[in-house]
Amino acid sequence: MSDKEKIDSTEAEESETYEAICYICHRPESKAGKMIRIPNDICICQDCMQKTFDTMNHAGFPIGDMGNFGNMPNISMINLSDLQNMNAVPKSQKIKKKKKKEDKEAKPELDIRAIPAPHKIKASLDEYVVGQEHAKKVMAVAVYNHYKRVCCDEQDGIEIEKSNMLMLGPTGSGKTYMVKTLARLLDVPLAIADATSLTEAGYIGDDIESVVSKLLAAADNDVQRAEHGIIFIDEIDKIAKKKTTNQRDVSGESVQQGMLKLLEGAEIEVPVGANSKNAMVPLATVNTRNILFICGGAFPDLEEIIKERLNKQSAMGFHADLKDKYDGEENLLQRVEVEDVRKYGMIPEFLGRLPVIFALDALTEEMLVRILTEPKSAIVKQYQKLLALDEVKLEFDEGALHAIARKAKKKDIGARALRAIIEEFMLDIMYEIPKDDSIGTVTITEDYIDNHGAPLISMRGCPALPENAGTTGA
Ligand code: ADP
Repeated sequence: MSDKEKIDSTEAEESETYEAICYICHRPESKAGKMIRIPNDICICQDCMQKTFDTMNHAGFPIGDMGNFGNMPNISMINLSDLQNMNAVPKSQKIKKKKKKEDKEAKPELDIRAIPAPHKIKASLDEYVVGQEHAKKVMAVAVYNHYKRVCCDEQDGIEIEKSNMLMLGPTGSGKTYMVKTLARLLDVPLAIADATSLTEAGYIGDDIESVVSKLLAAADNDVQRAEHGIIFIDEIDKIAKKKTTNQRDVSGESVQQGMLKLLEGAEIEVPVGANSKNAMVPLATVNTRNILFICGGAFPDLEEIIKERLNKQSAMGFHADLKDKYDGEENLLQRVEVEDVRKYGMIPEFLGRLPVIFALDALTEEMLVRILTEPKSAIVKQYQKLLALDEVKLEFDEGALHAIARKAKKKDIGARALRAIIEEFMLDIMYEIPKDDSIGTVTITEDYIDNHGAPLISMRGCPALPENAGTTGA
């Protein structure tokens, strides 16, 4: 196939699945009828074109009087049939056509049998996410129920409630990572938004509805696919109600209020290919009824609120406990209840729309070691692969892995610290090793990580020797 033929065939394919939108009234071609293509990649429906001509007529332009054109210099007739033949429309001005009824019946968008059962979802998550057993289980069940709800009809009058989730967990404990992994496993589009950037409509910042427009972009402007997607809103604790304020709270409580209808399910008009609505951007209508919303946040100080509640409960009656009973407990977040989050500043209506609440564990040294080595694309495996391309074997002592985990834990940013620490120690090695073809194995030791020594280097066919090359650049 020649290049031109290839381009023609991809254009034909695109025009089958995508449709143009009128530049003026934003209606798609399926509603407004055949579009007229004018230069600069603009489409206008015939109604709008007619209206434009009518307006010009009334304004006294000589369009109705064709004879005038012939007499006037520098004015040429617009040939409508020429305009109709121009096909190139940029993707930002097209939305994917909704499937016709018959197509839908032949192949439903989501097949109930195709949704993996919770234990299978969890098993797939296990391959990537270390620990967090409870969170993985809760998520697997919630997602399974959500997509069952999407597939089943409501003819019997029983409507299954939406299982939007609220995920609590310290920073770097894998909240975003879990959602990303889940969306990839289920093959649904995912949009990740930051609650801190959202403000009430009309104020500086992103409109709340911009999250849906992000999802539409992630679904390649395919409205139907977007309507089954997942929206993850991070840093949700940052939109808690401000405690002492006498100003209008445009980024806290109002954002929670504004999100209510989105979480529940509403028809939202979102700009296609842009972040905000304006006259120049086409709009598409997305129904959020079947979009799964997952909100995540670190909720610092929530533990204090939980502790207070638990202390209050246990301080009553004959079996009163010591007041500091819960002070040393590591995973207090696991005991969270809706009441605590409400006290933190989330409004009851908002929490009512996030019925699944669960917390992630803080990562322990043991878990950090496993994160280094176990997941499918664990950091250690990545470095081993890089060095294997130079035909060098990379090994980490058990002690070295623990030393890295200890250092990471001190930084208090969860698993995110691991990469930075390893990167620092691997820099010299990655720089020096390719210089010497005779190196066979590099072993990272605990002493090297604690800055007391060098990695062990062994030549091909020789036993391992301590080597200063890594640190001194020999
Ligand atoms: P946050 O909770 O702040 O959203 P992230 O999900 O961004 O944290 O986690 C940062 C990185 O840490 C992820 O990209 C992932 O590689 C790693 N990570 C965190 N928790 C885990 C875990 N339980 N298993 C495997 N990797 C993890």
